[in-house]
Amino acid sequence: MAKTAYTKTELKKFEQNILDKIDEVNKSIEGVRSSTRPTNSVFLEDRSEDFNEGTQAHEVEKNFLLMSRESDYLINLKKALQRIKDGTYGICEISQKSPEKCESPDCPLISKERLMEVPNATKGVFCKEKKKLNLL
Ligand SMILES: [Zn+2]
Repeated sequence: MAKTAYTKTELKKFEQNILDKIDEVNKSIEGVRSSTRPTNSVFLEDRSEDFNEGTQAHEVEKNFLLMSRESDYLINLKKALQRIKDGTYGICEISQKSPEKCESPDCPLISKERLMEVPNATKGVFCKEKKKLNLL
């Protein structure tokens, strides 16, 4: 019979992973606050053209953008912690609504690898792509 939920031991591991990520994000936000040149952030890559201008206003704007995106991530990580408490963590959202449409290989579970990589994931990777293409 297919597994329909992760075990307590597995959830404990996921929880630790989420807590580590929260810690990382917090440190990164701290770093932005104490520095005006957050060049180490991946969130800024798509805005690199602006770097030539290098004005203080742009720096402030970029920092704000970075912080608001990281805060969103933080909120999602905290929601993930809540799902661990509720016992729904790691279960694909699509399979909860319409199990026959879920494409996760471990349906209804999102793969462990994906959860370690993207701890705030709420859908399996195939389901997420299909959802994006409006196929679900
Ligand atoms: Zn799915």
